[in-house]
Order: sequence, then C-alpha cells, then structure tokens
Amino acid sequence: MKIQFDQEYDVIVIGGGHAGCEAAAASARLGANTALLTNKLETIGVMSCNPAIGGLGKGHLVREIDALDGVMGKVIDQAGIQFRMLNASKGPAVRGPRAQADRKLYREAMQKTLKNYPNLTLLEGAADDFILDDNEIKGVKTEDGLILKAQAVILTTGTFLRGLIHRGTDKIPAGRVGEKPTVNLAETLINLGFPMQRLKTGTPARLDGTTIDWGALEVQKADSNPVPFSYMTEKITVPQIDCHITYTNENTHQIIRDNLHLAPMYSGQIDGTGPRYCPSIEDKVVRFADKNRHQIFLEPEGLDDSTVYPNGISNALPIDVQATMLKTIRGLENAVVKEWAYAIEYDYCDPRDLKNTLESKRLKGLFLAGQINGTTGYEEAAAQGLMAGLNAAAQAASVSRETANPYTLDRAQAYIGVLIDDLISRGAPEPYRMFTSRAEYRLLLRSDNADQRLTDIGIEWGCVGAERQKHWAGKKTALAAARAMVKSLNETPSKLIEKGVSVNQDGRRRNAFELLRYPDVKWEQLIAIWPELDEVEAPIREQVEIDALYDGYMGRQQAEIESFRRDEALKLPQSLDYSQIGGLSNEVRQKLEMVQPETLGAASRIPGVTPAAVIALLRHVKKRAA
Ligand code: FAD
Repeated sequence: MKIQFDQEYDVIVIGGGHAGCEAAAASARLGANTALLTNKLETIGVMSCNPAIGGLGKGHLVREIDALDGVMGKVIDQAGIQFRMLNASKGPAVRGPRAQADRKLYREAMQKTLKNYPNLTLLEGAADDFILDDNEIKGVKTEDGLILKAQAVILTTGTFLRGLIHRGTDKIPAGRVGEKPTVNLAETLINLGFPMQRLKTGTPARLDGTTIDWGALEVQKADSNPVPFSYMTEKITVPQIDCHITYTNENTHQIIRDNLHLAPMYSGQIDGTGPRYCPSIEDKVVRFADKNRHQIFLEPEGLDDSTVYPNGISNALPIDVQATMLKTIRGLENAVVKEWAYAIEYDYCDPRDLKNTLESKRLKGLFLAGQINGTTGYEEAAAQGLMAGLNAAAQAASVSRETANPYTLDRAQAYIGVLIDDLISRGAPEPYRMFTSRAEYRLLLRSDNADQRLTDIGIEWGCVGAERQKHWAGKKTALAAARAMVKSLNETPSKLIEKGVSVNQDGRRRNAFELLRYPDVKWEQLIAIWPELDEVEAPIREQVEIDALYDGYMGRQQAEIESFRRDEALKLPQSLDYSQIGGLSNEVRQKLEMVQPETLGAASRIPGVTPAAVIALLRHVKKRAA
C-alpha cells in the first residue's frame, strides 16, 4: 500500500533534549532538510537534573562538540553563572571546564539558536510509531496522526521510554516530573527485538533560596577570569554568582538508615541500576557507611530565580522523610521545598546493538543517541547526538559527499570516540558517564586543544560553518608562527644565566621552546631575553607552553597510537562466522557474536575477550584474506 505522507524531510530527530538539539543542528549543518520533533517546543534545551554543563571528561566533550561547530558550548557561554576550571592546579590534560547554568537562560539560548538554524524545522508533537518498510525506516507517525517521511530518524527520547517516577511507595508514569512517558515507541522497539533494559537515575529536591541560612555556610566563588567553553566566545558577559557548601551529618544518615525500607532502590520497587558515579544519598549512606558526612553544593538555578539545587542529595524517599532529613542539614533547617526529590526508572537500549555511526544494526536508517543508549549526562548525550546527526544526514540524498566513509572518530582523536567505542563494545550495564580516566591517550586529548584535534576534520566533513573556519584559520596561523618563533630563538647557557634562567653550563645553546619545558620557566620571563615574545597573544602563548610541557611524552604516546591504529585498520568482515574460528571459548564466541566488532581493535576491547582469542581471530581473518 502506498503511504500518503503529510510532510517530507531528509532527517527527523525525535526529542528536543541535549542529544536531540545537537543531532538536529549537526544534520542541518550538513545541509540535510531536518525536522526536530519534540513533545513541547518550550522544553527544548531543558536541563532535567543539575543546572550545570561540563566537568572532568564532560568538559572535554563540550569542547570537542564546539570544535566541530556544535551548539552546546556557545549556548552555555550565554547562560553560565558560575564558571570554574576544575583541577586548575593540575596538569592541562585533566583540567575540566565547568559552568553552572541559569536554567532559563540556557533554555532560551538553545531555543533561539535552533529557531534560527538554516535547514531546520522545529515541530511540536509526540512521535508515536515508526513507519517501516522491511528492515528500513521510512518515517514517523505522531500522536496527532501526522505521517512524516524521512530517510533517516534519530531517536533521542532520554528518560521518557516507559519512564516511571518513584518517590517512597508512590509510582507515577512520567518521562520526567510533569511530563508524560513515551510508551508506544518503547513497545515498538521491544516488538522489533531491540535489546531493551531498565536503568534509573534520581534528582534532589529544589529549595527556596530565600529560606536558606546562607550566613552559616561556606562560600564557593566563581573563577575570577571565566574561561569560555566555545572557541568562538571572546568573553563571558553573564554576571557570575557564588555557590555555597554544606554537609550531611550523622543525624541525616540515621534518618536515611531508619527509612531505607521506604527507599524504592532498597525496598525492591526499582529494578534498574543507578548511576555509580552520581549516587543517591541513600546509596552513599549505605556504600560509604564509614563516612560521617557528605558534601552538598547549593547551586542557585538562575539570576532571577530563587530556586536552589542542592547538588549531592538526590533521593527517592517519601516526602515526610525528605522533610525531616533536610531539617538536620546546616543552613537548611528552615528551608522551604519547591519540588520534592524523585528517582526515575526508564527503558534504554543496549548500545552494543549499534554500529559505530550510532545507527541500529537491526533497523536501517534508525539512529539512537543520548540517555536512550544507557549514558547519563547532558554532555554525553550531546556528543552522541552530534555524531548521529552527521551520520543520519549522510544517508540523505541531498547531502553529497566525496567519500562513502561514515563520520566517526577513534579513541586517539577524541573523547567522543572513546565514548562511542565504549558504548558499542562494552555496553552500558550501569549509567555511563565520561571521565578522563576512560581515555588511554589523555595527554593528547586535552580540553584546551580540541580545536587543533578536530576542527580541520569538521571542515573536511562539511559541518563547520564559514565563521568558525575563518576564526580557526587565524588561530592556526598564529599558532604556527608562535611555534616557529620559540624554536628559532636560542641562547647560550652563560647568557641565559645572566638573564636569570638557570640551565646546565654545558655550552649547548637552547631555544625558547626547550626552556619552556622547564617547570619553573614561564613565557613572561623569556620576554626579558627575547622581547618579540611579548607580541604573541595570551591564548597562543598558553597553548605553546602546554605543547612544550608535554613534548617529551608525546613521542611515546604517538607510538602507542600507531599500534592502536594498526589494530583499528584491521577490519573484521560483517559476515564472519565466529563458530568457525578455532580456539575461541563459548563465552568469547557469544560475546563476539553479540557485539560484531567492526575491527580487531574493537574486538580486543570487549570485556572478557582474551589476548589469545584476539590472536586466534587475527589468524583466522588473515587466512581468510589470503
Ligand atoms: P532528555 O534531555 O531527557 O530529552 C529527551 C527529549 O525527548 C525531551 O525533549 C522529550 O520531550 C523528548 N521526547 C520524549 N519522548 C518523545 C516522543 N515520543 N516524541 C517527541 N519527543 C519526545 N544526569 C546526570 O549526569 N547526573 C544526574 O544525576 C542525573 N539525574 C537525572 C535525574 C532525573 C530525574 C532525570 C530525568 C535525568 C537525570 N539526568 C542526570 C540525566 C540527564 O537529564 C540526561 O542525561 C540528559 O538530559 C539526556 O539527554 P537526552 O537528550 O538523551 O534526553
């Protein structure tokens, strides 16, 4: 039967959360006629939980999204009310930019950005089902009965699939508080055989800041010189505010322990696994029983909003227990609650069912991105959205590309590559969040150099606009000139000593780049020797100083990367019959069959796949190719 379509697009993105916004923008940037279909236009860019972007590992992701001309970095720069560089006293590789956001400003900036985005149409409505033809997606049906045609669809429904809110013994079907869950689409996925499982996450109560005793609390200041997320933002102009810190105590913990039987995670009411790295306060009290206090950051939610987000005490306890617990906390004794804490349980799809483009292995043209893939956090969602957006657009006939290669990044290019590779090879048995420790090549994958790693790739892919291309070209020229300059300026040890730079008196001339490798030598000091160094702008200086700092380690890391790339280059045929490979245990064979890794490298990263199994695989593939 021929389907009558009401509207036609190249790509339809379902969901206006963090994955959806970035996916829609990326697809539109490639020139695909894109629609963002979401329950309510006014909730585009809503932060369901903590009002903050970035952090360790997460901040790296935002910089990478920005380097590929994504939207998240620019939006948080318009909405951040407390910028802090985490780990500022440590090495540049583990520094993480973070900004607490004004929720309203963030939402407004995201909506304004997307409303004016070329090739993008925003549609209000709930996706109810897919239009399918064999194992291929052809479009989306909305709850209002609209039939929308698309060559590719990106599903980014976050915590909405069969979402169920828990608070004490109360259970409320919802996607997040006040919003209905998505049930029919979840059932369609289950019926199509998608491997769906349950996860849970939680959020704390929201407090009325006018009722908090601020005078009794520690203050946490913003950085005096806020560093923007986006390479395109010159200066942060949003006013910066203070946050405050308080702590739970033994009384708080006793109340929680006394009521654990009413906490859904402990009463057996919730089956889904919760986030290990962002645990609820019930979890903290049980798992870290020896700790007599836990830190709570009191974060104002906006410049003209008195709501305060108490970061660190998410829970799903009954309301009366929450009220008693809050009264035990310093500064919160008389705090009025605007909204009570809750946990949410939702369906997610095992990401091992996806290709490295985030396209489903079982349904051509359907891409999945964000919390639906088992991740947690806005940045992880946005990073997947960006990549899914590019790859979905590549399926549209209107997007012409010289090569048929998919848009992918590997573990040595970006945290985005680490994230997607981890998801598709290891799955997400618990909510996955990014950390710097997940990256093998973290000396290279720094938040300061995301543009140097990725913007040229983005230009080649066609997803970087003219304005950024121009800006990047200027920076690249300045960087090259500064690097050449520091390597050309050199001096003898005796002259250096005279100028206060202490080096071995071995008669060997040293250039400025070599001197910057010494931890106690700073650029400013070298200006006394070579005044021309003063002409180099501060951000370029800083970059060259970081280059010098890591120069000695880069050779080793580069050798490791080359070995990693050799394994990545060894593609495994999709038709591989693992039962024909001798020397594989049943367990390893089942794992390989489940994940169907695309390269030998990806196979080696599947938990439980032994080095011996990798060698057996390598021998088999080589024999087959011979
Ligand atoms: P979301 O931001 O949830 O966006 C989903 C979008 O899809 C929404 O716009 C929704 O309206 C739309 N949608 C859903 N169904 C349909 C449909 N059928 N048709 C059209 N549109 C649809 N992250 C952390 O890092 N730490 C935490 O502690 C944490 N706690 C959380 C607590 C709660 C209660 C919730 C709800 C989330 C929490 N998160 C936390 C997760 C964080 O909110 C998500 O990781 C992030 O928002 C995921 O982005 P997303 O784009 O995948 O989904």
